[in-house]
Amino acid sequence: MPRPWDVMDAEQLRQYLEFYQDLGIKTLFRRAAAGVSAAAEAPVSIAPAVSTAPMELPPLAPSGDTLLKIIEDMGDCRRCRLHEGRNKLVFGVGHEKAPLVFVGEGPGADEDAQGIPFVGRAGQLLTQMIEGTAKKEGIALTRADVYICNVVKCRPPENRTPEADEMETCGQFLYRQLSAIQPKAICALGGTAARAVTGHKEGVTKMRGKWFKWRDIPVMVTYHPSYLLRPYNENAKREAWEDLKKVLHFVYD
Ligand code: SF4
Repeated sequence: MPRPWDVMDAEQLRQYLEFYQDLGIKTLFRRAAAGVSAAAEAPVSIAPAVSTAPMELPPLAPSGDTLLKIIEDMGDCRRCRLHEGRNKLVFGVGHEKAPLVFVGEGPGADEDAQGIPFVGRAGQLLTQMIEGTAKKEGIALTRADVYICNVVKCRPPENRTPEADEMETCGQFLYRQLSAIQPKAICALGGTAARAVTGHKEGVTKMRGKWFKWRDIPVMVTYHPSYLLRPYNENAKREAWEDLKKVLHFVYD
């Protein structure tokens, strides 16, 4: 399958790199082909692009992309080092045409064991948050009606934060998921997901409760449920419920 840059002219390539730069990705990592020297694997910096004219970005995904096609393309993915410790690849769960997508950071131990995102304690809290808030607000909604996935699909060792090259490599699949689903809004859970989806660099406490964009799709940032499980986070819990109310009303009113 040709890589995007094999079929782009110089202007399209500039836009493509600019888009990744907007996402906060400053360095691209190339895989060396067989027989190519290690120097070819060196990271490539994305130079600041200079442009004033608004232009349509080139597609990040094949046309007619579907979640099934993305799963097939991932296969037994070994594109980054996170495959080494995984038990199951955790692609995503929910409605293929969900109007709302939740994006977390990466699978934990329970998710890695079951191959389903957000099934551990944090996942149970997320389900309660979605369904409890919807019920209180008079919105008929269950967890099965939304789509839930992570920035990286394999569990990082010791649940560490995914590294930049891992997020970049796996991020292509997240972006294809979002492009295929085309939700009305995205809710980024926690700082890592917020930074990966919006490209903004602030911490989650500064970003939460505000709207950003992924391409043309509004993105609400809130806390990751695992943060809300820590003791003494009552204020954060209240704020997360407020954020969720905003996004549910935006999508379902
Ligand atoms: S984290 Fe993503 S890119 Fe890395 S091996 Fe797993 S599926 Fe592939």
